[in-house]
Amino acid sequence: MRIETLAVHAGAEPDPATGAVAPPIHLSTTFEHGPACEDLHGYSYIREKNPTQSRLEEAMAQLEGGQSALVFGSGMGAGCTVLQSLPPGSHVIFPNDLYTGFRHLYREYLPHWGIETTVVEMENLDQLKAAIRPNTRLIWAETPSNPLMKIADLLAVADIAHAAGAQLLVDNTFATPILQRPLDLGADIVFHSTTKYCGGHSDVQGGCLILKQREPAQKELSHEHLYRTRTLMGATASPFASWLVLRGLRSLPCRMERHSSNAAKIAEALEKSSKIERVCYPGLSSHPGYEIARRQMKGFGGMLSVLVRGGYDEAIHMASRVKLFTNATSLGGTESLIEHRASSEGPGTQVPQNLLRVSVGLEHVDDLIEDLLQAIG
Ligand SMILES: *Cc1c(COP(=O)(O)O)cnc(C)c1O
Repeated sequence: MRIETLAVHAGAEPDPATGAVAPPIHLSTTFEHGPACEDLHGYSYIREKNPTQSRLEEAMAQLEGGQSALVFGSGMGAGCTVLQSLPPGSHVIFPNDLYTGFRHLYREYLPHWGIETTVVEMENLDQLKAAIRPNTRLIWAETPSNPLMKIADLLAVADIAHAAGAQLLVDNTFATPILQRPLDLGADIVFHSTTKYCGGHSDVQGGCLILKQREPAQKELSHEHLYRTRTLMGATASPFASWLVLRGLRSLPCRMERHSSNAAKIAEALEKSSKIERVCYPGLSSHPGYEIARRQMKGFGGMLSVLVRGGYDEAIHMASRVKLFTNATSLGGTESLIEHRASSEGPGTQVPQNLLRVSVGLEHVDDLIEDLLQAIG
């Protein structure tokens, strides 16, 4: 089945009890069992799993083409669950352009968990190969990356991971399964912050892991072990949050099409402006990862960053003059957002001071272009 059809139908069978076409939200924290705790209905306690969450897991697994999925209360909850499931003494390789929460995590927490980390330029495959150690268990890729929109060659990175006996996890938040399916390109685990495009309306927080194999050779990253970690660490998604993400998925293909076409037009318009030093968007032929992105993505997505000619002052000048865009963090909603990422990430950030990150919404693109061009002026 094609992905547009899957997005509408995956996990969407009518409620067997009532025939309701829209899925019920099961708020119950506990489920009936037998007198000696015999499993009667497949559910027991809300922190383990609940029926609304199971529907979302079914949908996410189908959309990414994985054998199973686990959903979480946030993207960070999903990511922490993977890292907490690795045995102490493991080594993980991260990319140098990465969602800032994971950078804080590997600096502040992974040493306490006995996990070693190396940070590489993931586009440089020789650097990646050189970083492999005998205890490397996981390569963590993010493509397109936040906020520089770097592109990792997933087929090549997967080969390097597997030759080392490690697994490849791909943060697919920016692309979504509509534009990129990492499991088809060799990845073992796909990660999502469903707070972003999957939810799609800036009103729900969630995370998801999709596994290529339910029971991979590397047992610590099996469905069962990740499920155990999620349950004990309490990172399970609430029924209502699961329901909102499920609702968002139904229109994801249509939204990604518009996000992508709007972003492409904005990228082209801004690239022509003398006030802009560089536009980071993988759909521009000037982007160093353009050829790889063309090969591994069906579209280039709704995120872009601009380096304003000048520095901090010029970037803040532009961000302060937008009328239609809102200065706010996060991304993937229907409304367009802009953010000075260095200010957002705070002290220790590696993001250039003249960078503004843009989450292109679903408005008419000409209104968005007019707003950005008047703001640079
Ligand atoms: C937002 C985001 C995360 C973290 O997810 P939360 O839902 O905020 O916990 C991870 N990766 C990327 C690329 C993100 O944009």
